[in-house]
Amino acid sequence: MIYHLDLNFPFSKKMTVNNVKEIEDLIKIVSKLPGLGPKSAKRIVLKLINNREELIKPLTNTLAQVYKNVVRCKICGNLKSTNSNCICSSKKYDQICVVENIADMWVIQSSGIYKGHYHILGGTLPSFESKNTGNGLLIESLINRVKKNSIKEVILATSASIEGETTSHYISDSLKDTGVKITRLAKGVPVGGEIEFLDDGTLFSAFKNRGPVVSD
Ligand SMILES: [Zn+2]
Repeated sequence: MIYHLDLNFPFSKKMTVNNVKEIEDLIKIVSKLPGLGPKSAKRIVLKLINNREELIKPLTNTLAQVYKNVVRCKICGNLKSTNSNCICSSKKYDQICVVENIADMWVIQSSGIYKGHYHILGGTLPSFESKNTGNGLLIESLINRVKKNSIKEVILATSASIEGETTSHYISDSLKDTGVKITRLAKGVPVGGEIEFLDDGTLFSAFKNRGPVVSD
């Protein structure tokens, strides 16, 4: 039997969904997703409930598969399936673009400006000068990748924020001994600018005009 919940829309703040705990839990989870508030979460949940076979069933299966099989590669930081090798171990390549997170990589990828390999740090170093080596950031493995694959150029595409700059300096220092050419996106990137939110034009000129990193 298919249940069509009559959730009057627009929802008022006081609305409870008949005190069905499962639904309330789902709304809570969905509203944590980026760009969604409680209102749109309720709309999504209602859509799901009214399409149990077409949506809930495949979604449940897909989520279970993602949960089970998708992991972060310990070498390049990209997402990979446990059933296959990561792209970083597949082909020969001589350029690596270093980004803070996967969203940044997706923006650069979809702009079509750069078609090479990526290295996803998983964040930035804190802005204050610290002697620590950036807990959890994949910097050691970047150095190993550069050495192992005889990389010719490392493009630093971290944000133009203080943290992004700190990270970029730290990485270029760490790579100094490898002799690899290190470039940084041009200052077309506004100060404080996060890669994820740049338009294609700005990103394009920042890539085109990237320059060598001069370490002091
Ligand atoms: Zn990888």
